[in-house]
Amino acid sequence: MNRPIVTRFAPSPTGMLHIGGVRTALFCWLFARKHGGRFILRVEDTDLTRSTDDNIRIIEAGMAWCGLDWDEGPVAGEPSRWVGPHGPYRQMMRMDSHYKPAVQKLLDEGKAYRCRCTREDIEARRAAVEAAGKVFQYNRGLDAGKGCRDKGFNGSIPAAVRLKMPESGDIVLHDLIKGDIAFPADSLDDWIIARTPDGADGIGVPTYNFCVVVDDVDMEVTHVIRGDDHVNNTPKQIALYAAFGHDLPAFAHVPMILGADGAKLSKRHGATSITEYQAMGFLPSAIRLALARLSWTPKIDGRAVETAEEELLTDAEMIQLFDLADVQKSAARFDMAKLEWMNQKLIQRATWQEIEPHLAAFMPDAWKTKPDDWKAKAIQCTQKGKNLKEMAGFLEFCWAAPTEFDEKAVEKFMTDAIKPVLREVVALEDYAHDALEAAFNRILEAHGLKLKDLAQALRVALCGKPVSPPIFDTMALLGREEVAARVGKWV
Ligand code: GLU
Repeated sequence: MNRPIVTRFAPSPTGMLHIGGVRTALFCWLFARKHGGRFILRVEDTDLTRSTDDNIRIIEAGMAWCGLDWDEGPVAGEPSRWVGPHGPYRQMMRMDSHYKPAVQKLLDEGKAYRCRCTREDIEARRAAVEAAGKVFQYNRGLDAGKGCRDKGFNGSIPAAVRLKMPESGDIVLHDLIKGDIAFPADSLDDWIIARTPDGADGIGVPTYNFCVVVDDVDMEVTHVIRGDDHVNNTPKQIALYAAFGHDLPAFAHVPMILGADGAKLSKRHGATSITEYQAMGFLPSAIRLALARLSWTPKIDGRAVETAEEELLTDAEMIQLFDLADVQKSAARFDMAKLEWMNQKLIQRATWQEIEPHLAAFMPDAWKTKPDDWKAKAIQCTQKGKNLKEMAGFLEFCWAAPTEFDEKAVEKFMTDAIKPVLREVVALEDYAHDALEAAFNRILEAHGLKLKDLAQALRVALCGKPVSPPIFDTMALLGREEVAARVGKWV
Protein backbone atom coordinates (compact mmCIF):
# COMPACT_ATOMS: atom_id res chain seq x y z
CA MET A 1 0.00 0.00 0.00
CA ASN A 2 1.54 3.30 -1.05
CA ARG A 3 -0.94 5.53 0.70
CA PRO A 4 0.22 7.18 3.93
CA ILE A 5 -0.76 5.19 7.00
CA VAL A 6 -3.91 6.50 8.68
CA THR A 7 -5.38 5.13 11.89
CA ARG A 8 -8.30 6.35 13.90
CA PHE A 9 -9.70 6.03 17.39
CA ALA A 10 -13.48 6.23 17.29
CA PRO A 11 -14.93 6.35 20.79
CA SER A 12 -18.63 6.56 21.49
CA PRO A 13 -19.09 9.32 24.08
CA THR A 14 -21.50 7.32 26.19
CA GLY A 15 -19.38 7.31 29.34
CA MET A 16 -15.95 8.00 30.72
CA LEU A 17 -12.79 7.08 28.83
CA HIS A 18 -12.12 3.46 29.79
CA ILE A 19 -8.50 2.35 29.99
CA GLY A 20 -9.33 -0.37 27.46
CA GLY A 21 -10.22 2.44 25.05
CA VAL A 22 -7.01 4.25 25.90
CA ARG A 23 -5.03 1.11 25.10
CA THR A 24 -6.78 0.86 21.69
CA ALA A 25 -6.08 4.54 21.04
CA LEU A 26 -2.47 4.00 22.10
CA PHE A 27 -1.97 1.20 19.58
CA CYS A 28 -3.50 3.36 16.83
CA TRP A 29 -1.22 6.23 17.88
CA LEU A 30 1.94 4.09 18.11
CA PHE A 31 1.24 2.58 14.71
CA ALA A 32 0.63 5.93 13.04
CA ARG A 33 3.68 7.50 14.68
CA LYS A 34 5.88 4.56 13.75
CA HIS A 35 4.95 4.84 10.10
CA GLY A 36 4.96 8.62 9.92
CA GLY A 37 1.23 8.52 9.28
CA ARG A 38 -1.81 10.34 10.65
CA PHE A 39 -3.88 9.57 13.71
CA ILE A 40 -7.53 10.63 13.71
CA LEU A 41 -9.94 11.08 16.60
CA ARG A 42 -13.53 10.56 15.51
CA VAL A 43 -16.51 10.88 17.82
CA GLU A 44 -19.19 8.24 17.22
CA ASP A 45 -22.11 9.94 18.90
CA THR A 46 -25.02 8.33 17.08
CA ASP A 47 -26.41 6.81 20.28
CA LEU A 48 -28.41 9.90 21.08
CA THR A 49 -29.75 8.70 24.39
CA ARG A 50 -26.32 8.06 25.90
CA SER A 51 -23.91 10.42 24.10
CA THR A 52 -23.19 13.71 25.83
CA ASP A 53 -20.97 16.73 25.21
CA ASP A 54 -19.52 16.28 28.67
CA ASN A 55 -18.36 12.80 27.77
CA ILE A 56 -16.75 14.16 24.61
CA ARG A 57 -14.83 16.68 26.71
CA ILE A 58 -13.78 13.93 29.13
CA ILE A 59 -12.51 11.78 26.25
CA GLU A 60 -10.62 14.67 24.67
CA ALA A 61 -9.07 15.64 28.00
CA GLY A 62 -8.13 12.03 28.79
CA MET A 63 -6.49 11.55 25.41
CA ALA A 64 -4.63 14.84 25.71
CA TRP A 65 -3.46 14.00 29.24
CA CYS A 66 -2.24 10.63 28.00
CA GLY A 67 -0.19 12.37 25.34
CA LEU A 68 -2.17 10.75 22.52
CA ASP A 69 -2.23 13.78 20.27
CA TRP A 70 -4.45 13.51 17.21
CA ASP A 71 -3.59 14.98 13.82
CA GLU A 72 -7.21 15.25 12.74
CA GLY A 73 -10.35 15.49 14.79
CA PRO A 74 -12.30 17.81 17.03
CA VAL A 75 -10.66 20.82 18.64
CA ALA A 76 -10.75 19.87 22.33
CA GLY A 77 -13.60 21.57 24.16
CA GLU A 78 -15.03 23.20 21.03
CA PRO A 79 -17.73 20.93 19.63
CA SER A 80 -18.24 22.76 16.36
CA ARG A 81 -14.57 23.16 15.38
CA TRP A 82 -12.13 20.61 14.04
CA VAL A 83 -8.70 20.23 12.45
CA GLY A 84 -8.16 18.21 9.30
CA PRO A 85 -9.58 17.96 5.79
CA HIS A 86 -12.19 15.27 6.49
CA GLY A 87 -14.41 16.98 9.04
CA PRO A 88 -16.69 17.19 10.77
CA TYR A 89 -15.28 14.46 13.02
CA ARG A 90 -18.54 13.94 14.90
CA GLN A 91 -20.91 11.48 13.30
CA MET A 92 -24.10 13.36 14.15
CA MET A 93 -22.73 16.28 12.13
CA ARG A 94 -22.23 14.04 9.06
CA MET A 95 -25.73 12.61 8.62
CA ASP A 96 -26.94 14.74 5.73
CA SER A 97 -23.56 15.53 4.21
CA HIS A 98 -22.07 12.04 4.16
CA TYR A 99 -24.21 9.09 5.23
CA LYS A 100 -27.55 9.74 3.56
CA PRO A 101 -25.99 10.46 0.14
CA ALA A 102 -23.97 7.23 0.51
CA VAL A 103 -27.18 5.27 1.21
CA GLN A 104 -28.79 6.87 -1.84
CA LYS A 105 -25.80 5.92 -3.98
CA LEU A 106 -26.10 2.24 -3.04
CA LEU A 107 -29.85 2.36 -3.74
CA ASP A 108 -29.24 3.96 -7.14
CA GLU A 109 -26.69 1.29 -8.00
CA GLY A 110 -28.99 -1.55 -6.92
CA LYS A 111 -26.61 -2.62 -4.15
CA ALA A 112 -29.14 -1.86 -1.46
CA TYR A 113 -32.89 -1.99 -1.43
CA ARG A 114 -35.90 -0.58 0.38
CA CYS A 115 -37.50 -2.86 2.90
CA ARG A 116 -41.09 -2.32 3.92
CA CYS A 117 -41.33 -5.27 6.27
CA THR A 118 -42.81 -4.08 9.51
CA ARG A 119 -41.50 -5.14 12.87
CA GLU A 120 -44.61 -7.31 13.25
CA ASP A 121 -43.99 -9.06 9.86
CA ILE A 122 -40.48 -9.87 10.86
CA GLU A 123 -41.40 -11.05 14.35
CA ALA A 124 -44.01 -13.43 12.92
CA ARG A 125 -41.51 -14.82 10.40
CA ARG A 126 -38.87 -15.13 13.10
CA ALA A 127 -41.28 -17.10 15.29
CA ALA A 128 -42.04 -19.48 12.40
CA VAL A 129 -38.34 -20.10 11.70
CA GLU A 130 -37.55 -20.57 15.36
CA ALA A 131 -40.48 -22.95 15.76
CA ALA A 132 -38.78 -25.12 13.13
CA GLY A 133 -35.66 -25.10 15.31
CA LYS A 134 -33.59 -22.82 13.05
CA VAL A 135 -31.92 -19.46 13.53
CA PHE A 136 -33.78 -16.62 11.83
CA GLN A 137 -31.83 -14.68 9.19
CA TYR A 138 -33.68 -12.09 7.13
CA ASN A 139 -34.26 -13.40 3.61
CA ARG A 140 -32.02 -16.42 4.24
CA GLY A 141 -32.66 -20.09 4.92
CA LEU A 142 -36.32 -20.70 5.77
CA ASP A 143 -36.98 -16.98 5.31
CA ALA A 144 -35.55 -16.96 1.76
CA GLY A 145 -37.79 -15.17 -0.72
CA LYS A 146 -39.88 -13.59 2.04
CA GLY A 147 -37.89 -10.39 2.27
CA CYS A 148 -38.03 -7.29 0.09
CA ARG A 149 -34.73 -7.86 -1.73
CA ASP A 150 -36.30 -8.47 -5.12
CA LYS A 151 -39.43 -6.38 -4.76
CA GLY A 152 -38.01 -3.22 -6.29
CA PHE A 153 -39.80 -0.83 -3.93
CA ASN A 154 -39.27 2.84 -4.70
CA GLY A 155 -39.07 5.68 -2.22
CA SER A 156 -42.74 6.57 -2.23
CA ILE A 157 -43.45 4.95 1.11
CA PRO A 158 -41.20 5.26 4.18
CA ALA A 159 -38.95 2.21 4.27
CA ALA A 160 -35.75 0.98 5.83
CA VAL A 161 -32.78 0.32 3.54
CA ARG A 162 -30.96 -3.02 3.56
CA LEU A 163 -27.65 -3.98 2.01
CA LYS A 164 -27.61 -6.84 -0.49
CA MET A 165 -25.17 -9.19 1.18
CA PRO A 166 -23.54 -12.07 -0.68
CA GLU A 167 -25.72 -15.19 -0.44
CA SER A 168 -23.05 -17.84 -0.71
CA GLY A 169 -19.38 -18.36 0.05
CA ASP A 170 -17.45 -16.93 2.97
CA ILE A 171 -16.54 -13.43 3.97
CA VAL A 172 -13.01 -13.66 5.28
CA LEU A 173 -11.49 -11.22 7.71
CA HIS A 174 -7.69 -11.19 7.42
CA ASP A 175 -6.89 -9.84 10.82
CA LEU A 176 -3.36 -8.67 11.56
CA ILE A 177 -3.64 -9.89 15.14
CA LYS A 178 -6.19 -12.71 15.08
CA GLY A 179 -5.31 -14.24 11.73
CA ASP A 180 -7.99 -15.26 9.21
CA ILE A 181 -11.57 -15.59 10.38
CA ALA A 182 -14.18 -16.87 7.90
CA PHE A 183 -17.85 -15.91 8.21
CA PRO A 184 -20.16 -18.06 6.03
CA ALA A 185 -22.40 -15.77 3.98
CA ASP A 186 -25.51 -17.70 4.99
CA SER A 187 -24.91 -16.68 8.60
CA LEU A 188 -25.16 -13.02 7.63
CA ASP A 189 -28.41 -11.43 6.59
CA ASP A 190 -29.16 -8.35 4.53
CA TRP A 191 -28.66 -5.88 7.35
CA ILE A 192 -30.28 -2.51 7.70
CA ILE A 193 -28.06 0.39 6.66
CA ALA A 194 -30.70 3.07 7.22
CA ARG A 195 -33.73 2.89 9.46
CA THR A 196 -37.27 3.68 8.40
CA PRO A 197 -37.71 7.45 8.47
CA ASP A 198 -40.39 8.85 10.77
CA GLY A 199 -43.34 9.81 8.63
CA ALA A 200 -41.83 11.53 5.62
CA ASP A 201 -40.36 9.42 2.86
CA GLY A 202 -36.68 9.58 1.99
CA ILE A 203 -33.90 7.97 3.99
CA GLY A 204 -33.98 7.41 7.74
CA VAL A 205 -31.12 7.46 10.18
CA PRO A 206 -28.16 5.42 8.87
CA THR A 207 -26.99 2.70 11.23
CA TYR A 208 -23.80 2.33 13.17
CA ASN A 209 -21.87 -0.13 10.97
CA PHE A 210 -22.77 1.89 7.91
CA CYS A 211 -21.48 5.17 9.31
CA VAL A 212 -18.22 3.55 10.45
CA VAL A 213 -17.43 2.37 6.91
CA VAL A 214 -18.46 5.62 5.22
CA ASP A 215 -16.16 7.46 7.61
CA ASP A 216 -13.25 5.07 7.31
CA VAL A 217 -13.43 5.35 3.52
CA ASP A 218 -13.87 9.12 3.54
CA MET A 219 -11.09 9.62 6.08
CA GLU A 220 -8.75 7.37 4.07
CA VAL A 221 -8.15 5.08 7.03
CA THR A 222 -5.64 2.40 6.08
CA HIS A 223 -5.57 0.46 9.37
CA VAL A 224 -8.66 -0.14 11.45
CA ILE A 225 -7.25 -0.98 14.88
CA ARG A 226 -10.01 -1.48 17.44
CA GLY A 227 -11.28 -3.66 20.27
CA ASP A 228 -12.07 -7.26 19.44
CA ASP A 229 -15.68 -6.74 20.50
CA HIS A 230 -16.01 -5.45 16.92
CA VAL A 231 -14.89 -8.65 15.19
CA ASN A 232 -18.47 -9.70 14.53
CA ASN A 233 -19.30 -6.36 12.92
CA THR A 234 -16.45 -6.71 10.49
CA PRO A 235 -18.01 -9.07 7.88
CA LYS A 236 -20.91 -6.64 7.49
CA GLN A 237 -18.43 -3.85 7.05
CA ILE A 238 -16.32 -5.84 4.59
CA ALA A 239 -19.41 -6.39 2.42
CA LEU A 240 -20.05 -2.68 2.48
CA TYR A 241 -16.55 -1.88 1.23
CA ALA A 242 -17.22 -4.24 -1.66
CA ALA A 243 -20.54 -2.53 -2.37
CA PHE A 244 -18.79 0.84 -2.47
CA GLY A 245 -16.05 -0.63 -4.67
CA HIS A 246 -13.34 0.36 -2.19
CA ASP A 247 -10.21 -1.48 -1.17
CA LEU A 248 -10.39 -2.90 2.32
CA PRO A 249 -8.32 -1.33 5.04
CA ALA A 250 -6.17 -3.65 7.13
CA PHE A 251 -7.98 -4.79 10.26
CA ALA A 252 -6.38 -5.45 13.64
CA HIS A 253 -8.62 -6.38 16.54
CA VAL A 254 -6.93 -5.95 19.88
CA PRO A 255 -7.85 -8.23 22.78
CA MET A 256 -9.80 -7.09 25.80
CA ILE A 257 -8.34 -6.14 29.12
CA LEU A 258 -9.41 -8.38 31.97
CA GLY A 259 -9.25 -7.86 35.70
CA ALA A 260 -6.86 -9.89 37.86
CA ASP A 261 -9.57 -12.56 38.26
CA GLY A 262 -9.93 -13.09 34.52
CA ALA A 263 -13.33 -11.37 34.18
CA LYS A 264 -13.77 -8.39 31.86
CA LEU A 265 -12.23 -5.34 33.57
CA SER A 266 -15.00 -3.41 35.27
CA LYS A 267 -15.71 -1.10 38.19
CA ARG A 268 -15.79 -4.16 40.38
CA HIS A 269 -12.01 -4.48 39.94
CA GLY A 270 -11.35 -0.87 40.90
CA ALA A 271 -10.58 2.12 38.72
CA THR A 272 -11.43 1.76 35.03
CA SER A 273 -11.50 5.34 33.77
CA ILE A 274 -8.37 7.15 32.76
CA THR A 275 -9.42 10.12 34.89
CA GLU A 276 -9.23 7.95 37.99
CA TYR A 277 -5.68 6.86 37.14
CA GLN A 278 -4.77 10.50 36.61
CA ALA A 279 -6.14 11.33 40.07
CA MET A 280 -4.17 8.47 41.64
CA GLY A 281 -0.92 10.16 40.62
CA PHE A 282 0.28 8.12 37.69
CA LEU A 283 2.47 9.72 35.06
CA PRO A 284 0.90 9.47 31.60
CA SER A 285 4.14 7.89 30.38
CA ALA A 286 3.65 5.06 32.92
CA ILE A 287 0.07 4.55 31.75
CA ARG A 288 1.22 4.42 28.13
CA LEU A 289 3.93 1.92 28.91
CA ALA A 290 1.83 -0.31 31.17
CA LEU A 291 -1.15 -0.37 28.80
CA ALA A 292 0.99 -1.04 25.76
CA ARG A 293 2.78 -3.85 27.52
CA LEU A 294 -0.47 -5.54 28.60
CA SER A 295 -0.81 -7.41 25.34
CA TRP A 296 2.25 -6.42 23.38
CA THR A 297 5.62 -8.09 23.76
CA PRO A 298 8.19 -5.85 22.11
CA LYS A 299 11.10 -7.57 20.48
CA ILE A 300 14.60 -6.20 20.41
CA ASP A 301 16.62 -7.84 17.63
CA GLY A 302 14.02 -10.60 17.43
CA ARG A 303 14.18 -11.35 21.15
CA ALA A 304 11.37 -10.49 23.58
CA VAL A 305 12.26 -7.80 26.14
CA GLU A 306 13.31 -9.43 29.37
CA THR A 307 15.11 -7.37 31.93
CA ALA A 308 13.61 -4.69 34.08
CA GLU A 309 15.80 -2.22 32.24
CA GLU A 310 14.43 -3.31 28.87
CA GLU A 311 10.86 -3.12 30.19
CA LEU A 312 11.13 0.60 30.76
CA LEU A 313 10.73 1.71 27.19
CA THR A 314 10.53 5.36 26.30
CA ASP A 315 7.89 6.57 23.84
CA ALA A 316 10.55 6.79 21.15
CA GLU A 317 11.53 3.18 21.77
CA MET A 318 7.91 2.01 21.81
CA ILE A 319 7.28 3.79 18.52
CA GLN A 320 10.36 2.26 16.99
CA LEU A 321 9.60 -1.29 18.20
CA PHE A 322 5.83 -1.36 17.81
CA ASP A 323 4.61 -4.12 15.55
CA LEU A 324 1.03 -5.43 15.38
CA ALA A 325 2.49 -8.90 14.77
CA ASP A 326 3.78 -8.85 18.35
CA VAL A 327 0.35 -8.15 19.85
CA GLN A 328 -1.09 -11.26 21.41
CA LYS A 329 -4.46 -12.68 20.36
CA SER A 330 -5.89 -13.47 23.74
CA ALA A 331 -7.10 -11.17 26.46
CA ALA A 332 -4.62 -9.70 28.91
CA ARG A 333 -4.99 -9.27 32.65
CA PHE A 334 -4.53 -5.81 34.04
CA ASP A 335 -1.55 -5.72 36.37
CA MET A 336 -1.77 -2.90 38.90
CA ALA A 337 1.48 -3.86 40.64
CA LYS A 338 3.36 -3.57 37.38
CA LEU A 339 1.82 -0.20 36.60
CA GLU A 340 2.86 1.02 40.05
CA TRP A 341 6.38 -0.29 39.55
CA MET A 342 6.67 1.37 36.15
CA ASN A 343 5.31 4.61 37.55
CA GLN A 344 7.84 4.70 40.34
CA LYS A 345 10.72 3.90 37.99
CA LEU A 346 9.64 6.51 35.45
CA ILE A 347 9.27 9.13 38.17
CA GLN A 348 12.79 8.35 39.33
CA ARG A 349 14.28 8.76 35.91
CA ALA A 350 12.28 11.75 34.71
CA THR A 351 13.71 15.27 34.76
CA TRP A 352 12.01 17.77 37.04
CA GLN A 353 10.67 19.58 33.97
CA GLU A 354 8.98 16.39 32.76
CA ILE A 355 7.31 15.87 36.10
CA GLU A 356 6.34 19.46 36.81
CA PRO A 357 3.21 19.84 34.64
CA HIS A 358 1.76 16.62 36.02
CA LEU A 359 2.69 17.30 39.62
CA ALA A 360 1.25 20.82 39.38
CA ALA A 361 -2.24 19.29 39.23
CA PHE A 362 -1.77 18.01 42.80
CA MET A 363 -0.44 21.29 44.15
CA PRO A 364 -2.09 24.37 45.66
CA ASP A 365 -2.06 27.64 43.70
CA ALA A 366 1.05 28.74 45.56
CA TRP A 367 3.04 26.21 43.52
CA LYS A 368 2.65 28.38 40.43
CA THR A 369 4.24 31.35 42.15
CA LYS A 370 7.47 29.50 42.98
CA PRO A 371 10.61 30.07 40.91
CA ASP A 372 12.03 27.28 38.80
CA ASP A 373 15.01 26.52 41.00
CA TRP A 374 12.65 26.05 43.96
CA LYS A 375 10.38 23.75 41.93
CA ALA A 376 13.38 21.78 40.72
CA LYS A 377 14.56 21.22 44.28
CA ALA A 378 11.05 20.31 45.48
CA ILE A 379 10.68 17.71 42.77
CA GLN A 380 14.19 16.31 42.98
CA CYS A 381 13.95 15.76 46.71
CA THR A 382 10.63 13.90 46.46
CA GLN A 383 11.36 11.71 43.44
CA LYS A 384 11.50 8.65 45.62
CA GLY A 385 7.71 8.90 45.89
CA LYS A 386 5.62 6.08 44.44
CA ASN A 387 3.35 8.45 42.62
CA LEU A 388 2.64 12.15 42.10
CA LYS A 389 0.08 12.22 44.86
CA GLU A 390 2.59 10.92 47.34
CA MET A 391 5.16 13.45 46.11
CA ALA A 392 2.64 16.21 46.65
CA GLY A 393 2.01 14.84 50.15
CA PHE A 394 5.74 15.02 50.93
CA LEU A 395 5.64 18.73 50.10
CA GLU A 396 2.61 19.65 52.16
CA PHE A 397 4.79 21.24 54.81
CA CYS A 398 5.70 23.94 52.29
CA TRP A 399 2.25 25.47 52.23
CA ALA A 400 1.42 25.98 55.91
CA ALA A 401 3.11 25.69 59.28
CA PRO A 402 1.96 22.59 61.14
CA THR A 403 -0.86 23.06 63.60
CA GLU A 404 -0.74 19.55 64.96
CA PHE A 405 2.33 17.74 66.23
CA ASP A 406 2.96 14.04 66.53
CA GLU A 407 2.93 13.61 70.29
CA LYS A 408 5.22 10.62 70.44
CA ALA A 409 7.76 12.33 68.21
CA VAL A 410 7.64 15.49 70.32
CA GLU A 411 8.32 13.46 73.43
CA LYS A 412 11.12 11.53 71.81
CA PHE A 413 12.97 14.24 69.90
CA MET A 414 12.16 17.59 71.54
CA THR A 415 14.49 16.97 74.47
CA ASP A 416 16.05 19.58 76.69
CA ALA A 417 19.40 18.70 75.20
CA ILE A 418 18.27 19.55 71.66
CA LYS A 419 16.84 23.00 72.35
CA PRO A 420 20.14 24.92 72.51
CA VAL A 421 21.16 23.14 69.32
CA LEU A 422 17.97 24.24 67.58
CA ARG A 423 18.75 27.80 68.65
CA GLU A 424 22.08 27.56 66.85
CA VAL A 425 20.40 26.20 63.75
CA VAL A 426 17.98 29.12 63.70
CA ALA A 427 20.95 31.46 63.60
CA LEU A 428 22.45 29.89 60.47
CA GLU A 429 22.36 32.09 57.41
CA ASP A 430 23.79 30.14 54.52
CA TYR A 431 21.24 27.56 53.30
CA ALA A 432 23.35 26.09 50.51
CA HIS A 433 23.54 22.32 50.94
CA ASP A 434 27.29 22.15 51.61
CA ALA A 435 27.22 25.10 53.98
CA LEU A 436 24.39 23.55 56.01
CA GLU A 437 26.21 20.25 56.12
CA ALA A 438 29.42 21.83 57.40
CA ALA A 439 27.53 23.89 59.99
CA PHE A 440 25.56 20.87 61.20
CA ASN A 441 28.73 18.81 61.57
CA ARG A 442 30.32 21.55 63.61
CA ILE A 443 27.30 22.03 65.87
CA LEU A 444 26.67 18.32 66.37
CA GLU A 445 30.27 17.67 67.26
CA ALA A 446 30.29 20.44 69.81
CA HIS A 447 27.18 19.01 71.47
CA GLY A 448 28.09 15.35 71.09
CA LEU A 449 24.86 14.59 69.20
CA LYS A 450 24.03 12.62 66.10
CA LEU A 451 22.50 14.03 62.90
CA LYS A 452 19.39 11.96 63.45
CA ASP A 453 18.69 13.62 66.83
CA LEU A 454 18.80 17.05 65.29
CA ALA A 455 17.14 16.21 61.99
CA GLN A 456 14.14 14.57 63.66
CA ALA A 457 13.68 17.42 66.10
CA LEU A 458 13.82 19.87 63.20
CA ARG A 459 11.29 17.82 61.26
CA VAL A 460 8.88 17.87 64.17
CA ALA A 461 9.20 21.65 64.41
CA LEU A 462 8.99 22.23 60.66
CA CYS A 463 6.47 19.61 59.59
CA GLY A 464 4.75 18.42 62.77
CA LYS A 465 6.01 14.87 62.28
CA PRO A 466 9.37 13.11 62.00
CA VAL A 467 9.02 12.54 58.26
CA SER A 468 10.07 14.91 55.48
CA PRO A 469 12.38 15.09 52.49
CA PRO A 470 16.12 15.24 53.32
CA ILE A 471 16.50 17.79 56.08
CA PHE A 472 18.72 20.27 54.20
CA ASP A 473 16.25 20.30 51.32
CA THR A 474 13.37 20.73 53.73
CA MET A 475 15.07 23.74 55.24
CA ALA A 476 16.06 25.22 51.90
CA LEU A 477 12.50 24.86 50.55
CA LEU A 478 11.08 26.72 53.54
CA GLY A 479 13.78 29.37 53.61
CA ARG A 480 15.53 30.95 56.56
CA GLU A 481 12.72 33.10 57.85
CA GLU A 482 10.14 30.37 57.84
CA VAL A 483 12.53 27.93 59.50
CA ALA A 484 13.26 30.50 62.19
CA ALA A 485 9.53 31.12 62.73
CA ARG A 486 8.64 27.44 63.00
CA VAL A 487 11.62 26.39 65.09
CA GLY A 488 11.49 29.56 67.20
CA LYS A 489 8.28 28.33 68.82
CA TRP A 490 10.17 25.47 70.43
CA VAL A 491 13.22 27.21 71.85
N1 GLU B 1 -17.42 3.54 18.41
C1 GLU B 1 -16.93 2.22 18.60
C2 GLU B 1 -16.70 1.96 20.07
O1 GLU B 1 -16.65 2.89 20.85
C3 GLU B 1 -15.64 1.96 17.84
C4 GLU B 1 -15.91 1.54 16.44
C5 GLU B 1 -14.70 1.22 15.63
O2 GLU B 1 -13.57 1.43 16.09
O3 GLU B 1 -14.89 0.80 14.50
O4 GLU B 1 -16.60 0.82 20.46
